[in-house]
Amino acid sequence: MAHDIKKKHPMEEQNPQERVKNFDEVPFGYDIDTAVAEAERCLDCKKAPCRQGCPVEVNIPAFIMSIKDRKFEESIAAMKADNSLPAICGRVCPQESQCESFCVRAKKGEPVGIGRLERFIADWQLKEGVEDPKLPEPTGKKVAVVGAGPAGLTCAGDLAKLGHDVTMYEAFHTPGGVLVYGIPEFRLPKEIVAKEVDYIQRLGVKLETNMVIGKTITVDELFEEHGFDAVFIGTGAGLPTFLGIPGENLLGVYSANEFLTRTNLMKAYRFPEFDTPIHVGKNVAVVGAGNVAMDSARTALRLGAENVYIVYRRSDKEMPARLEEIHHAEEEGVQFRLLTNPIGINGDDKGWVKGMECMQMRLCEPDESGRCRPEPIEDSNFVLDVDTVVVAVGQTPNPLVPQTTTGLKTGRKGTIDADEFGKTSREGVWAGGDIVTGAATVINAMGAGKMAAKNIDEYLKSK
Ligand SMILES: Cc1cc2nc3c(=O)[nH]c(=O)nc-3n(C[C@H](O)[C@H](O)[C@H](O)COP(=O)(O)OP(=O)(O)OC[C@H]3O[C@@H](n4cnc5c(N)ncnc54)[C@H](O)[C@@H]3O)c2cc1C
Ligand code: SF4
Repeated sequence: MAHDIKKKHPMEEQNPQERVKNFDEVPFGYDIDTAVAEAERCLDCKKAPCRQGCPVEVNIPAFIMSIKDRKFEESIAAMKADNSLPAICGRVCPQESQCESFCVRAKKGEPVGIGRLERFIADWQLKEGVEDPKLPEPTGKKVAVVGAGPAGLTCAGDLAKLGHDVTMYEAFHTPGGVLVYGIPEFRLPKEIVAKEVDYIQRLGVKLETNMVIGKTITVDELFEEHGFDAVFIGTGAGLPTFLGIPGENLLGVYSANEFLTRTNLMKAYRFPEFDTPIHVGKNVAVVGAGNVAMDSARTALRLGAENVYIVYRRSDKEMPARLEEIHHAEEEGVQFRLLTNPIGINGDDKGWVKGMECMQMRLCEPDESGRCRPEPIEDSNFVLDVDTVVVAVGQTPNPLVPQTTTGLKTGRKGTIDADEFGKTSREGVWAGGDIVTGAATVINAMGAGKMAAKNIDEYLKSK
């Protein structure tokens, strides 16, 4: 296969005109020969700088070299030693700013497609099936994990591999956290999440769904009445932030959280086959420019909107979404209204959105911190003709568990205070993921879950 060695092997994907009409996954992934050819681009560096960029320190050259040698079982074993959710990470990790940004190949061309290879080997395993790891003798210690998102799943899986008796409590009816209720099907098929969650359960982790900790049972009761020796809190940041502008309570205004949860978890995109409907008008404004905003915009197009605008007060350079997501959104026809700040939402006489008032912005010179602040341009007001507004400007932690757990110190924004090992101010309680950092990434949440599992294990052994 002739290929420019300086470039990653491309991944085939659905054509943009076709894919805006469906919720099927956009990229198809590598076939075996392409994966082997991409693995051959890896230089098997001794110090492997790519690993520095991975919060769970996957042994990247080891898993890639095994793909190169077509030893796929060895490759997945090397991967799973550090990462229990590779099919998820291979799809949604921001590799360009993590492992791949450290790859020596990036100095003279494109980095090795580490994420694409991770996805390849994970999908190979899901198709072929391989033996689960042998588990050690049970230690007799019980750990409760609150929240079955990436932080909780990782922590639970690692603790089970160490022989502890782990129960995961999840508020929703389905485990996965943002992976199931936030990230849409066309980016991360729910079947993939279900299979990786199934792997965690095969390690012996018990799962109790529809259990809202802080309401159904409190953390204190987990210790006192249920006999747990330690608790890990991974409840994420699921509380939406609003803009605080007039008209935000009009009909047709959604938080991205509600918009995506209705569509993904409640399967509104398959209404009336599933019970949840969703209203999407003709012209939709999505406020914000992170991954959540791109997901909302691309979802709105698929639900039938004619015009979808990303409204963002800074320029394209500051957009926080992954490059691939921005590129996919552009290809699908999402329109970008940059340097534009919403200042009010107008309604009709029935209380439905009929337009969004905006102001043009400019970026000032960078200040001492190096950041350019956006400032409004006088008399630049205009009305964007929209009938639906989706607000995607960030999430904060849900306060329920911090408020109902005694002795837990919290930060200013409702986060739980934890040290680098995830240890909180309350003995026997660890926390990690978005509940500690605020909204971040899947792999950071997994890194925190992993670190906490190690530390909980040491604590349990010392007891
Ligand atoms: C739409 C969207 C797109 C994203 N895209 C990306 C991306 O492409 N790449 C990336 O790396 N990151 C992305 N992120 C961010 C990433 O998903 C999060 O950083 C990550 O999921 C955090 O993991 P977590 O385990 O801390 O929390 P979560 O995933 O939020 O999981 C927390 C879990 O705890 C449960 N829970 C909450 N309260 C309770 C309670 N009281 N009792 C029991 N259970 C409870 C919740 O139901 C949930 O299942 C995205 C986020 C969103 C919203
Ligand atoms: S830095 Fe790049 S080339 Fe070197 S081992 Fe890592 S992936 Fe391979």
